[in-house]
Amino acid sequence: MRLSTIACALCLLGFTPPALADAPLPLKLVVANAKIGNRPALAMSLTFRAGPDGRTILHLPNEWASEKELWRGIKQLGATNATFAPPGPEPQTRALNHTPNAEVTVTWVIGQDYTGEPNFGDTKSLFRATVNDHMVVAALQTILPSIERAPGSILGIDPGLRTQAPPTCNLSITFEEFPKAWALATAFGNGAQQSATAIPCDALWDSNLALGDFRIREARDAHGVVRLAVRGAWALSDEALLAKFVAGRAAAADAFQDNGPAQLLISLAATPPLPKGNAVFGTAFSYGFFGFATPNAPLSALKVWWNHEQVHYWIPNRLGQIAPGTEASLAWFNEGFTDYFSLMNAYRTHELTARALGEEMKERVIDGYLKSPVRDAPNRKIVDGFWSNRDLQELPYQRGALLALNWNAEIKKASKGEHSLADVIATLADQANQNPLVMLTPSRLAEAARTFGVTNAAGDIAAHVDAGRLLVSRRDVFGPCANYDSATGTLAADRGAWESAACAAWLK
Ligand SMILES: [Zn+2]
Repeated sequence: MRLSTIACALCLLGFTPPALADAPLPLKLVVANAKIGNRPALAMSLTFRAGPDGRTILHLPNEWASEKELWRGIKQLGATNATFAPPGPEPQTRALNHTPNAEVTVTWVIGQDYTGEPNFGDTKSLFRATVNDHMVVAALQTILPSIERAPGSILGIDPGLRTQAPPTCNLSITFEEFPKAWALATAFGNGAQQSATAIPCDALWDSNLALGDFRIREARDAHGVVRLAVRGAWALSDEALLAKFVAGRAAAADAFQDNGPAQLLISLAATPPLPKGNAVFGTAFSYGFFGFATPNAPLSALKVWWNHEQVHYWIPNRLGQIAPGTEASLAWFNEGFTDYFSLMNAYRTHELTARALGEEMKERVIDGYLKSPVRDAPNRKIVDGFWSNRDLQELPYQRGALLALNWNAEIKKASKGEHSLADVIATLADQANQNPLVMLTPSRLAEAARTFGVTNAAGDIAAHVDAGRLLVSRRDVFGPCANYDSATGTLAADRGAWESAACAAWLK
């Protein structure tokens, strides 16, 4: 009330009221334990300040990863203080009419859209919300509509490109009628009542939810809070897992010279064992990740995986906007560079020795790429086949990580050891911090790499990513630690070289 009085006084004097535009918006989420028929469900409501023009667009969850038409899971959609316009041609888009700036509440019910427990035989079970009588696990963007208060002013995940800087919100979250013993964890707290002040509104959509028989562990360090929700048996104790996540987040933040998310939730749920072998799967957000693994997943698989998910807080999440529909074409960077940095992070947190880092890089990245049956595929083939062909899905991880290895060696050489590829990521993060509307594009990546000494970054992307021409590992990808011989495909190190101070300094 006071703010609007001041705003009007300034209007009369011919000023625009920037302070009003910047004030955090109230945003209230209520999640209640409910049923659809006999089946467990969530009754959700979201209360927000609707748009100044008297018309607000709801974008229901639609596509996410391999999943499509997520809006079909939204039942009993209703609104108070607003009325729905008749449905248009797109079922995921609904318009609300209301008085300008009204406080509107949207309500809906959502259940589980697949059968049984999360399992590696059913992709749906890993990406779609799990809502059963002992747990709820969900990416919030798959169960919350995004709100377009005015053209380009979005609370949530923008279905198009953002044209205005993302607003901040004062967030409150309430959980109702869940069993007393249940954990109620989000990135913002654990318990029936949670709040966060002046955070980017998107943080709610760009995070996850873990309710149920999870064990909760929390730690705080100079970078903020790490919250762990874990259920089932894992290779490490809960405390040891938490310590790994704290160390991993801190090491990545230091490498990228950017604090990263101040609060995050990592939720881990063990799946039923597979008849043969083991598996891990994770999905990262800007404010945490969720993961599933078979109980027999070995520590060697887990430690690379969880560093991968944590590196995603930065790559690509803190580096700029990604044009809708271009995620698969950027997978060589988003996934490949993340794979490279996940191994580097495992080294920085002492989960891999220098020698083990070299061996993992050679086996996973260099040999993995050389053995790929589709290694010559141009990038557009990856875009077409990413969700339908396992080899095409893996290729951008291998190709991008190998390009990262080469570029890092080139930067090290050009800067006489002063800079590394992590400085390129730090620069991109800094640019996005200055301008949240900046786009993450191959040309911007190439330009950042060029400034640190990659002589033909744009040409490398055109040749080895776009056209699929064979990428050869440089001899000096491990600096003074070892030499890679591309003729024989071997890595040779002098006695003691991996353990030398020169090697440690180079890998730093
Ligand atoms: Zn990834």
